[in-house]
Order: sequence, then structure tokens, then C-alpha cells
Amino acid sequence: MAELLKRCEVPDSMQWDLTVLYASEDAYESDYGKLPALLEKVVSFKGNVTESAETLKAAIEAVDELTRLAEKLYTYAHLKSDEDTSNNKNKSRLNKMATYFAEVSGATAFFEPEILACNEDKLNSLINSPVLAFYKRSLLELLREKPHTLSEKEERILGLYSDVLSNSDEVFSVLNDADMSFGKIRDEKGKSIELSHGNYRLFMESSNRKVRERAFKKMFSTYNNYRNTFAATLDGTTKRHSVSAKLRNYTSSLEASLADDNVSCEVYLNLIKTVKSKIPYLSRYLKLRKKVMKLKSLNMYDLYNPLVKNVKSEYSWEEAKELVKKALAPLGEEYGKLLDRAFAERWVDVMENKGKRSGAYSSGCYDSYPYLLLNFNGTLNDVFTLAHELGHSMHSYYSNSNQEFHYALYSIFVAEVASITNELLLFDYLLKNSDNQELRAYLLGQLLDEIRATLYRQTMFAEFELEIHKLAEGNTPLSGDLLSELYFKINNDYYGEVITNADKLIEMEWARIPHFYYNFYVYKYATGMAAAIQLSQNILSGNKDKIDAYFGFLKAGDSKDVLDIMLDAGVDLSRSEPIEAALEYFNSTVIELEKLL
Ligand SMILES: [Zn+2]
Repeated sequence: MAELLKRCEVPDSMQWDLTVLYASEDAYESDYGKLPALLEKVVSFKGNVTESAETLKAAIEAVDELTRLAEKLYTYAHLKSDEDTSNNKNKSRLNKMATYFAEVSGATAFFEPEILACNEDKLNSLINSPVLAFYKRSLLELLREKPHTLSEKEERILGLYSDVLSNSDEVFSVLNDADMSFGKIRDEKGKSIELSHGNYRLFMESSNRKVRERAFKKMFSTYNNYRNTFAATLDGTTKRHSVSAKLRNYTSSLEASLADDNVSCEVYLNLIKTVKSKIPYLSRYLKLRKKVMKLKSLNMYDLYNPLVKNVKSEYSWEEAKELVKKALAPLGEEYGKLLDRAFAERWVDVMENKGKRSGAYSSGCYDSYPYLLLNFNGTLNDVFTLAHELGHSMHSYYSNSNQEFHYALYSIFVAEVASITNELLLFDYLLKNSDNQELRAYLLGQLLDEIRATLYRQTMFAEFELEIHKLAEGNTPLSGDLLSELYFKINNDYYGEVITNADKLIEMEWARIPHFYYNFYVYKYATGMAAAIQLSQNILSGNKDKIDAYFGFLKAGDSKDVLDIMLDAGVDLSRSEPIEAALEYFNSTVIELEKLL
């Protein structure tokens, strides 16, 4: 492999253009110098935020002005630092800004509690004041928290304890990411390699079953050695969610967690119920896997290797851009022109270089381009990554240019919808425009693996999460044995029809999933995938109203509740139909691949 370029050797055309954000170090420093005064202005409202509608409006604007500038500075600092993480000047700029950010959030912490401390009548008159008409949505959101907010004294105690109470998360991540080591296994060539979180996935994708089995056994027998400690950390976190829900007058941890997005428990329960009703589709896919892999019996470590070998195709950067543009053409001319702009104005940092942050992301702020960081190496996978990250960036672009700063930032709940939609459009384009049967089979296999991992696997996680919270709410301590028994049972509900003799060690998988510490987070992956499947089909139908509705979603930012945004876009996540349709799409893709193979 060719030696990696140093950052200074990367041609400009392959670098993102951060000069539009800050043309010089002086320009950055000059903005940085404005922060203390803006912060002081916010703090000056302390104690009288709700004095009058005018004061509240001025206070909200002061907070927005401060956050907007801080976000701009932070964006520059972190993008710059990711260009070359070994550059000390960049690192210290980022550290300085991160420290300042923490200070800002500490100093502005009084703001929301002060509003919530008002009595209901006062709050209602503020909310309905014409002066605050623009902020009504935000204030109503706050009002929703009112019945779940405790007295000032109690909130203060909880606030001071919050660090201590999240200690179980901390212990999990230190043990899981730093202290644990898994020992060595032999790779395909018989070489002894240290197993890590990073290369575990690669071993799982190996075409050599022995290698996959070795990695699997090594990984989960190590977790098994720490079974009780991991149970204790997960017990701690789950208990915290449950106690906090109780203290805050929610009927369950689930309700407390979903309240943030104003999502009802039915949406969550409905997802699990609907996915579970279509397990036969998953089984059909697993049977196909078993057959194609020529195995007598399938095991849990036989799910990640590509079903069909990758066709060796290389894409130059120019070809990748052209391909993505063609694939996204169903979104219309305006979207196409925007893609041209993204490339011409250099929103994208394309190539790998020494010290550059690995992986890919889309990131920016209200006052910047929605930048993309890539490490483009010309594989088909890299082309998909480009389409995916462009989905995020265009979503940000449309929200930022159609919403005021206050309502521009879209919720995590919808964050993956536009990116997956773009991926599905690329799948569709490649499938329709290739008569290479091998490539088609590879693509269908990849598509199925992605839907399996998102729709089925994340819903299975969501079910496990729900069950452990129920146990915690019933005051049952989560022991290692209990967690493993429960996990094995749920895993068996999903895979048991085909994987009849699953390696017992799969019962330890719960221990290595960081998302179980995120408080009912994973279901959003599944609903996001279901929404993207339906939206991509709406777009491909060519129906103008449906396409307009999709743009309505891209432009909505945070101006409405997430379920309403999705509903307006054409996906009613409060019903089972979109989930069912996504599962039907999965099934028809399985059938297509069956035919092809
Ligand atoms: Zn993404």
C-alpha cells in the first residue's frame, strides 16, 4: 500500500474548505473573544428570567446567541482537529473550546429550571403571550416536563448527585473499553492476533468459519469471566432509570425516556409486536444463508460474513460522485444542483492522510456548510458511505436554510432517516442498472444484512431493554444468570427456528452492548430504517406530492414533534403499517436473492 500523505501534501481539491468558516486564526480568535460578554449577558438574567414576556424573550435570545456562536467555534475547532489529530495546535484549540463549552452549560443551567419553577398560571400566560409566539413550541415542550419536575431543593440534590449516579455507566465503559483484554486468536493465515473490539467485526466477516468461531468463543468466554461485574453495572444503570422515572412521576422507565421526543409507549410496543409477528421472514433469510453457505447447521457466528463475495470493483472519486448523483436523481433537479454545490464548494474532506480521524461523518453548525469527513479508498462500500453522509448533510442543509436557529437542529429520532434513504436509493439504482449477476447478488446480500441488523436485531435489543427495565421496576435485581437466561430466550425467539443449536455463549452478548446504557435508544434505529424504506419507495414512485412531502421532512428541523414530522412526510409510525411494509420489503428482497442464487 502506498505511504499515506501528510496533511500538507493533500491537494486542496480533496480537502474541505474551512476558510469560509474562519478565514484566519485571527478571525477565529476574534469570535472566541466575544464569548465572555455573551455569557455574561445570559447570566445577567439569573433570578428574573420569567419577570415578563419581554424579559423571557430577551433571555431566550441571549442563550441562542451564545450557543450559536459557541457551536460555530466548536465546529471549526473539532473539524480542524480531525484533519490531523497529531497536530498539537489544533488539539489545544479544541481542548480550550471543549472546556469553554462545559463552562457555558454549567453557567446556563439555571435557565430551564427557573422557567419550570413558575406556577402554572404564570407559565400559561407567558406561553400565550404574543411576544413569545415564536417560542411557544419550545415553551410548551418545557411545560410538558412540569409535572415531572421536582422542587428546587430536590432538583438541586439530584443535580449534585447526577455524576455519582451515572457511575455504573462509567464503570462499564472503563471495564469494557480499557481494562478488558480478550487474548489472542489465530487468523486465516494461522497468525496469532490480539482480539479487540475493533477487529472482532472483521473476524466475524471472515469467510473462514473456524476463524469466526474462534473469535466468537474467545470474545464471549471473556465476557463470561466478568459476567457478574457486567450484570452489576447494567443493574445499576437500569435501576437508576427506574428510580428516576418513579421520582419524576412517570408510570415507567419507558414512558420517562420516550417523553423527550413526545413519543408514546405504543410506538415502542407496536414496533416489537410487529417485528415479532414477521419472524418467519427472518427465518427464510437464515435458511437461505444456511443453504448458500452450505452448512448443516447455522450458528450465531455465521451471520456477518457477506453472503456473496464482493465483486472487486474500484471507483475513482470522480466516478463515485457521478454514481451517487445518478442514484439520487429521483430527488429532483434542485437536490442534484445542491450536490454539485457540495462538491464545488468543497464541503467534503475526501482522502485519508496521516493523523486524520478514521471513519466518516457529517458535521457542521447553523453558520457553516454541513461538512463531510470521509476516508475514501474507492471501494463500493465507500460509495455507499458517501451517499449516506450526504443524506445527513443535505438534511442539515435544508433544515438550516428553512428554519431559524432556534428550531433548526433535528432530533436524533429522525437523524438516520435521510442517510438511510440515500443508501436505499443507491441500492435501487445499482440493482436496476447492472446486469452483472454477481454484483446484483452481492448488493441484495448487503441490503438484507443491513435490514436484518437494523430492523430485527435492534428490535430484539429493544425488547431485551424493555424486559430488564420491567424487572428493575419490580425490584428484581439483575444478576448475571438472570440476564443471560433472558437474553438467550429472546435471542432464541428471533433466531431459534433456524439456529436450533445456538452456541450457548451467545447468552453473554448483552454484556458487550454499550447501547443498553443509553436509556431506550436502539428502537430509533429500527423505526428510522422502516421510515427510510417507505420514504425511498415514495421517492422512487416519482409521485410529486410524495417527493414534496419528503422535502417537507428535510426542511422541518425541530419545528414539530418527530412523529408529526414523519406523519407529514408520509410515514405514520404510530401505526404498524410502515413497520409491516418494511418487513415485506425485506421478505421480497430475500425472494429476489433466492431466485438469483
Ligand atoms: Zn449516519
